[in-house]
Amino acid sequence: MSGHKTGQANMRVSQFPLFTLKESPADAELVSHQLMLRAGMIRRLASGLYTWLPVGLRVLRKVETIIREEMNKSGAVEVLMPSVQPAELWEQSGRWDQYGPELLRIQDRHARNFCYGPTHEEVITDLVRREIRSYKQLPVNYYQIQTKFRDEIRPRFGVMRAREFSMKDAYSFHLSKECLQSTYEVMYATYARIFNRLGLEFKTVEADTGSIGGNVSHEFHVLADSGEDAIAFSTESDYAANVELAPVTPVIHAGMTSVQPLEKVATPNQHSIEDVCTFLNVSPDQIAKTLIVKSATDSLVALVLRGDHELNAVKAQKLESVANPLVFASEQEIQELLGCTTGSLGPLQLNCPVIIDHAAYTLENFICGANEEGFHYKGVNWDRDLANFSQYESKDLRKIVTGDASPDGKGSILVKRGIEVGHIFQLGDKYSTALNASVLDKDGKEQIVKMGCYGIGVTRVVASAIEQNFDERGIIWPQSIAPFNISIIPISAKKSGQVTDTCEWLYRELENLGLEVLLDDRDLRAGLLFADHELIGIPHRVVVSERGLQQDQIEYKHRRDQQAKQVPVENILEFLRDKVLAT
Ligand code: ATP
Ligand code: MG
Repeated sequence: MSGHKTGQANMRVSQFPLFTLKESPADAELVSHQLMLRAGMIRRLASGLYTWLPVGLRVLRKVETIIREEMNKSGAVEVLMPSVQPAELWEQSGRWDQYGPELLRIQDRHARNFCYGPTHEEVITDLVRREIRSYKQLPVNYYQIQTKFRDEIRPRFGVMRAREFSMKDAYSFHLSKECLQSTYEVMYATYARIFNRLGLEFKTVEADTGSIGGNVSHEFHVLADSGEDAIAFSTESDYAANVELAPVTPVIHAGMTSVQPLEKVATPNQHSIEDVCTFLNVSPDQIAKTLIVKSATDSLVALVLRGDHELNAVKAQKLESVANPLVFASEQEIQELLGCTTGSLGPLQLNCPVIIDHAAYTLENFICGANEEGFHYKGVNWDRDLANFSQYESKDLRKIVTGDASPDGKGSILVKRGIEVGHIFQLGDKYSTALNASVLDKDGKEQIVKMGCYGIGVTRVVASAIEQNFDERGIIWPQSIAPFNISIIPISAKKSGQVTDTCEWLYRELENLGLEVLLDDRDLRAGLLFADHELIGIPHRVVVSERGLQQDQIEYKHRRDQQAKQVPVENILEFLRDKVLAT
């Protein structure tokens, strides 16, 4: 492996202040955020805006280098587009209105509208429609590593969800769908190589395409308990999907045992599922809960789920009869159009279409609101009790949960937390049609080009790597992105010329070997020096002391080792080189 050689200079701490902090800043919740502040990697300027300090920047540069090397190898070509983008392009794509408040809109001195780019589909499509005229120039895949701005509603967790952050974004253009598909597969493989080289444990999942649009899409997630996304994957196959997307396989209806009579029961002041469960002494999976949302035609639709299941908004808003994006009806609309309050809702005798989740549809003799304040029904059965009143159908509406059958029929589902570090899309012709990007084909006919886009959160990768690699003393960098390979720590150098000379010799010779070294030449207690280097997470450490040198030995310890070991001075260079190359 050659990852240790990135041409960053060796340093002495006297010329490379460390900015480490003893205490964890009170406002940092996430381990990676705390450690990035404590290790002196970043400092906050304002909400979601961070300065990268020297140690942090060295890590960031290594991440960029790995991404760049792999992108170049994949055949992609680097460009650099402006951060500030004219509103006209966004008006042409329709996103000036669609993107909402995450788009930072600005005006120049002539009162012309611009935005600070949250992404670059419009700019690259504009470039391609101007520069690429013939199918012979296709396919192309342009990428950049560049600063984005998104006015996130809740910037948090440091650089994990910042407002200004660095992204590697790539955009490919093609004459045919097949060509797009094949570049997409190359990018899929390239991303796997990048995240492997970065030392991350990750999962690739099928994803929803969200506001960027298009149809095929995969996300790359770093698994970590602190992740904001929930990932569903199979215990037995490589099926993995964002929970938003994972279809739930309907369970076959077993057939009813004994049908109970429908009964209206008084449930005074019992509104929530828990209230009703306690009051009627039943469990949530015997209750049907009803949510009222806007329909596609601006009237209302009822969505019914089992009491213990959660609505999947992404699935619901994809239904033809439901408004997209999903909008919940207000208390007032429910009162006006359906004549009931939210705490007493139920699917029976409801004056709107009813969509029932598959699992709720298998309920028998269940409980639901009676659409009358203070009353519920008991012994409800769909076909007997609903058929005469409402128009209803059964659909997949809920989020998949641990224990559900895997959608591919192999094994069952495990839900874990993930941090999205990369996202690839087959956009198709969404932007090229809107911006009229076409080329001449073999027959001289104009053809709208097909497009793919591929993003990696470069700054987020740094935080994610820490979420997977730390202990109580600090960060433990994967070798490939460590700010330095080796720490040299002299003990009482001031008192010993021999210690100083040996450290200087090591510093020089390791540099000649192309290894990146941080020599701590501060006149501080050894314990303080050790603590700083462990916090920063440098993988290899050598300690040079007079006592060791008297026996011709230097102490070595890997950041993950419990015990240090002694290495003869004459072997130390080779020993360290092998250690760095081996990891
Ligand atoms: P998220 O769901 O986390 O908001 P997204 O789907 O909006 O991400 P994309 O538009 O696909 O993200 O952007 C590509 C990559 O940029 C993401 O995979 C993520 O790693 C990174 N990213 C997105 N938003 C942020 C942010 N606010 N701070 C840091 N990195 C980000
Ligand atoms: Mg986002």
